[in-house]
Amino acid sequence: MKSLFLRSWVLILLISGSFLFLSGCSRNPVTGKKELTLMSESQEKSLGLEYDPQIQAEYGMYPDSSWQRYLREKGEAMAKISHRPKLPFQFRVIDSDVVNAFAVPGGYIYFTRGILAHFNSEAQLMGVLGHEIGHVTARHANEQYTKQTLAQIGLIAGMALSPKFRQFSDLASTGVQLMFLKFSRDNESQSDQLGVDYATKVGYDAAPMAEFFKTLGRISDAHGARIPSFLSTHPDPGDRYNKVKAMAAAKQKELPQATRIDRDGYLKRLEGMIYGKDPRQGFKEAEVFYHPELKFQFPTPAESWAYENTPSKVQFSTKDQKAILVLSLAQEKDLQSASSAFLSSHKLSSVTQERTTVNGFQALYCLSDLIPEQSASPEDKANNTMRVSSMFIQYNGMIYNLTGVAALPDFSGYEAVFQKSMRGFKSLTDPAKLGAKPEKISIQKISKSMNLRDALTAFKQDTKRFDELAVLNGMELNEVLPAGTMIKTVSK
Ligand SMILES: [Zn+2]
Repeated sequence: MKSLFLRSWVLILLISGSFLFLSGCSRNPVTGKKELTLMSESQEKSLGLEYDPQIQAEYGMYPDSSWQRYLREKGEAMAKISHRPKLPFQFRVIDSDVVNAFAVPGGYIYFTRGILAHFNSEAQLMGVLGHEIGHVTARHANEQYTKQTLAQIGLIAGMALSPKFRQFSDLASTGVQLMFLKFSRDNESQSDQLGVDYATKVGYDAAPMAEFFKTLGRISDAHGARIPSFLSTHPDPGDRYNKVKAMAAAKQKELPQATRIDRDGYLKRLEGMIYGKDPRQGFKEAEVFYHPELKFQFPTPAESWAYENTPSKVQFSTKDQKAILVLSLAQEKDLQSASSAFLSSHKLSSVTQERTTVNGFQALYCLSDLIPEQSASPEDKANNTMRVSSMFIQYNGMIYNLTGVAALPDFSGYEAVFQKSMRGFKSLTDPAKLGAKPEKISIQKISKSMNLRDALTAFKQDTKRFDELAVLNGMELNEVLPAGTMIKTVSK
């Protein structure tokens, strides 16, 4: 959660999307074939234009202009030699530790700081850049939208939460997840080929891109299904390693001068980059959520609840997704208008409302119901009603909204959990929490030949994190490194 707040309207945009009833035929820029598409180039651009601020609000931009400039320069050079050289591509580094890169129609390409930290050469970055540009030039997103629209499957089908929470999609969904359309295997292979082609064309050896799939595979093994993004939309890293390796070798035969890798230059660029979660944007510790920048804290539900912190909200949900608790900021300036806006935007029927105080701060507690519009019977109505418990708290010139949601029959089982978080909201004064700092990447050079394990030991890295650091370096711990090799380490 960040101090600057914008609501995420991604889902609403997608449901009411302007592309629903539009049709036509156009030529695919990559294949040259005519194909049915429901989106014209200008519609594609306006979709990108609408998405972009939402993605920026959801993740936040990485506040380092040199990285933004670097990605833009590399991206624009590659876009020029792509199949859509006239499209005004935009390249952004977003402030997330998740290892991900993605493209949005209209030519918007996003790289997280997490993926940038995990590249081990400029050539790897160029390969992934080419892959994402490839999704745009081959108009894969259009194809996905088209298929899904034709099949009359709303993009809502991609939502992480159970259908009961759909009405709270802007609150409860990981909104940006919708951005990660699942491309088909064919789309992915085509983008891999385009990535290899584009990277080679601008002078890079495309083989290191294949190495990066190994890194992705290792991250996936370490985190299991918890990584949403690049991995779920880009499956089977092992298989792609061999394919991309072969593609790169074939392409290099055509352009033998394309040999640039630039490992050291890229690593030097990573010096000082924030690594992992940035606690200044909020962190959870022993069932308490702390936000050093906004200076508040509140008790969280038990460890067994899934937890997600994004710039626009902090969200907890039970593993069976029967209950959610979300903290967000209201855009309104006073308690009454914040609660009214919330009730009306979610079509909630007020049950009770009362003015109260929470640890000395003015607050308004609202209990409301979301009643299904079309219910077959009164029983059906009772079973499908969602009960919504919201506390609006005035703190530091802003209105915080802590809302818990569960189906009416389940609600009493969660009420105490919701109340504990709401009533426990207070200002953060603990200097240790207020002064929390993120880790940063530090590049070190080894003076004599040794393996990675010994090098990490020499630079006083935490032995418990050696596996993680080996992945970060794209190496094995027993790999012997020549004198003068640079490696990534992390420090506060
Ligand atoms: Zn892809």
